[in-house]
Amino acid sequence: MIDMHILENRQDHDLGVGKIEKIANETGWLEKPLFLWQQDGSMKFQQRLVCIAATSIIVVVYLIFLANVHLVSLHGQDSEQIKVSLRESPLHLTNYDWQEPDQQQCRLLDNLESFSNLTSLYLRDKAKYDTLSNGQYELPTKSYDPDDIPEKLNVILIPHSHNDAGWLRTLEEYYIYTTKKILNNMMIKLKQYPKMTFVWAETVFLSMWWNELEDDTKVHVRNLVKRGQLEIVLGGWVMPDEASTHYVSVIDQLMEGHLWLYENLHVKPQNSWSIDPFGHSGTVPYILKKSGIDNMVIQRIHQATKSALASVKSLEYNWHQPWDTSGKYDILCHVMPYMLYSIQYTCGPDPYVCFQFDFRHSDNPEKKAFAKRKITGANIDKMANYLYQQFRKKSSLYEYNTILVPIGDDFRYDSLHEWDEQYNNYQQLMRYLNSRKHWNINVQFGTVADYFSLLKRESKKKNFPTLAGDFFPYSDQNYLYWTGFYTTRPFDKRFSREVESNLRTADILNTLAFGYCNKWNVKFAHSHETASLLQQARRHLGLFLHHDAITGTSKDYVMENYESKLLEAYNDTQKVMSMALQTLLTKGKFPSPLILSPDLVRQKFNVGTSQRTISISDSGTTIVVFNPLPKNRNMLISLIVNTDDLQVLDKNMKIMSYQLNPVWISKVSVSRSKFEITFLVELPPLGIHTFLLRKGDCKEMYPSLLSVYNSMELDVAPNLKFAQNRPVFQPKQSQKLRIENDFILGEFDPVTGLLQKVLDKRTGNVTNIQIQFMYYTSRGSGAYIFFPKGEADPLPNVWGQPVVRVTEGPLMSKIEVLHPIIHHTVILYKVPTEQGQNFHIQNVVDMHASKTKDWEIIMRLHTDVMNENLQYYSDQNGYQLIKRRTKSEIGIAANYFPMTTMSIIEDSAKRVTIHAGQAHGVASLKQGELEIMLDRQLMYDDNKGLGQGVTDNKPTLVNSFYR
Ligand SMILES: [Zn+2]
Repeated sequence: MIDMHILENRQDHDLGVGKIEKIANETGWLEKPLFLWQQDGSMKFQQRLVCIAATSIIVVVYLIFLANVHLVSLHGQDSEQIKVSLRESPLHLTNYDWQEPDQQQCRLLDNLESFSNLTSLYLRDKAKYDTLSNGQYELPTKSYDPDDIPEKLNVILIPHSHNDAGWLRTLEEYYIYTTKKILNNMMIKLKQYPKMTFVWAETVFLSMWWNELEDDTKVHVRNLVKRGQLEIVLGGWVMPDEASTHYVSVIDQLMEGHLWLYENLHVKPQNSWSIDPFGHSGTVPYILKKSGIDNMVIQRIHQATKSALASVKSLEYNWHQPWDTSGKYDILCHVMPYMLYSIQYTCGPDPYVCFQFDFRHSDNPEKKAFAKRKITGANIDKMANYLYQQFRKKSSLYEYNTILVPIGDDFRYDSLHEWDEQYNNYQQLMRYLNSRKHWNINVQFGTVADYFSLLKRESKKKNFPTLAGDFFPYSDQNYLYWTGFYTTRPFDKRFSREVESNLRTADILNTLAFGYCNKWNVKFAHSHETASLLQQARRHLGLFLHHDAITGTSKDYVMENYESKLLEAYNDTQKVMSMALQTLLTKGKFPSPLILSPDLVRQKFNVGTSQRTISISDSGTTIVVFNPLPKNRNMLISLIVNTDDLQVLDKNMKIMSYQLNPVWISKVSVSRSKFEITFLVELPPLGIHTFLLRKGDCKEMYPSLLSVYNSMELDVAPNLKFAQNRPVFQPKQSQKLRIENDFILGEFDPVTGLLQKVLDKRTGNVTNIQIQFMYYTSRGSGAYIFFPKGEADPLPNVWGQPVVRVTEGPLMSKIEVLHPIIHHTVILYKVPTEQGQNFHIQNVVDMHASKTKDWEIIMRLHTDVMNENLQYYSDQNGYQLIKRRTKSEIGIAANYFPMTTMSIIEDSAKRVTIHAGQAHGVASLKQGELEIMLDRQLMYDDNKGLGQGVTDNKPTLVNSFYR
């Protein structure tokens, strides 16, 4: 979400820079900071994010005061090798304002946790991790004594059907072959059985179905909802994964779903139903609460945690935000206690008993093998007794005498027969159970709303316990941890974040174009097209948040279906950006033809983003840069151009300094026709600037100095302007490589090219940070599960020493390590702003090498940070941080957590932060260590239903930066 968006204006049209500047100046566009939002209640999200950002800024804020220290070259090479001496950075003396974060706003998490009775950290410590002989974790169910006079028990049976928006089949296939039938049957049978109820969660399927309905059927559906027989629960576009998703996209898909429901069914969901995502985040309950939802049901949390909660009768609790001192955002949460949400695991603790109460195939001669006994006069007493005892045992886990019993499973109720059998058999059972006075029980069909309304009536005078935190990692049985999916298919996780960033930017530009056209009294010519493109992009991205999509846990061809939709969303959002920008820059006068082209392009669904090579025409090429963030940004950007004979001019036609970098065409050969230029852009919040690139000699050009190690060659054509050192074939370990700016200096091993130490120039403190690439060998890992054989090993030396390339210049320096599997790049920007205070790390991981089968590759940072008790922090959906504590005794896989954007280890003197451009699994297994998993190639299935390994790895850019 932090990328600038750069669009190129091909100069083959009359929209020259002068004209753009003139129009833009008239409109006040280039200078005036613009704000989209007013300060009101809806700002809470932004405020919270600012708080997180401020937390991470604290460590680096002091560095800015060293901006006047001159760069001292510590390059350890023979100066005679240097053809051209490096020039000093033109940016040293530039002064920028630096805002101190408001310390008061950033309270310490430790103090705030005390506002809740329970925390997930506490539960993790208290949980008992032993399993029974059947591999399951034990729940403390009380046995039922038939002689007791029991208290009144209310049982709400909730018929439901879990419909995955893609998994073993695509969304469209599921809809055509199954979901459409389920919804059609629902219409018929809810009409026929007015006492029967149904709940539905996924709006994407409703919207597909709706388009095929006659108007009178639509009225009928609305009536079912109105009288509470059909309840729409959650109502997001999908039931999203909560580990790998960014909060902005979680909100987007929830809004898309809720808006659709409001417009078409005239309803706002009050209850959430999230029964299949693999673990639950502490941020999602807050988002649900803000969306108007009052209660929620979850299922997949660690079975040992469920046991710990049940032992203190806290499977129902108020989910609390640790920073919310008023409890205003608390939301009541019901945790389903058993292993799964199918009928086998919902009536009570014994799956063999509950299994008998799934009447899907009763009386169906074709499905005799699956058929359960129908309820008859002959067996009803025995069967009702069984069910009664299971209900009582289930209720012993809860504080109150109201229990929720879901009656359904994946894609259930697809036949009319199933509707009839479930209804008729349960009707008989309910009549019998309710008529037994001494059982003191009332069983009825109901919805989630019915359940919570009864529960709240019963619990009126007491408070529910409060809980803060999240439920990762998830394990259902056999010590198997669902921590692999935090990283599975990183190509797609990265892709979705790029789409999310585009979508946000396109939304902002579209809003601005619309607003300004109103102000200028002109029509925003593209408004209908942009609105429809944005909605489609939002729906495609929303679909990808589904808990088998962004998790990477669908079949290969289903993943390709998602990727095609993401590609469409990527390109459509770029089109909206171009249309809106062109409208803004021309004051609505030249909305077409579209002459702006985006700098970043995606050609195919299975190939990553690349940067366009900009052809510099004789008259010059205009570059438009937009800052989508509501804050000032001064940062270096890089473009690829087709000449090294050019000038960069700012909006006042003043020649700007830039650094000329090589584009490599092989490990050691520099292109003669493509070059990278890096220059500074300074942008107000939501501001646009234009630059002109034109041919011509430039005194303000700074060619970089090139060096290579572990190679005998460096192929740079003599007419190119780069300085170069003689290649070093066998570097001595003592000849450290260094790159530095005014704030920090990094020292690298010349043999491996990897970071070893960082010097903080203000304090003189040195932090040892050694980057190492390693791999786990799979013992039973799959798309979901991380199950390594043992500890990680360093990548073997079978490929020989990688070529190490160093590019140095006054505006930026970088070190690249060309390992056959990982192209690792560390960049240091020499700019006195935030961008200059971090090492920017890029890893392009390509697991196609045959030696990587059943490997899970990680990047581990070994530091001298003394993090006590192996404590560290990771983020929840990019919205807030949460404390983690490694429990070595439960194994490596059990100590992996999701990291959507950030992870931190610290002691009283030092803090190391990794920011990530996409979701990963993260762990700190030993003191001072922080590791992130980069990619995994797995040959086998992990028995969670997918039926395949993960072998469709694609080269993936993994962006992160270290502070
Ligand atoms: Zn599912």
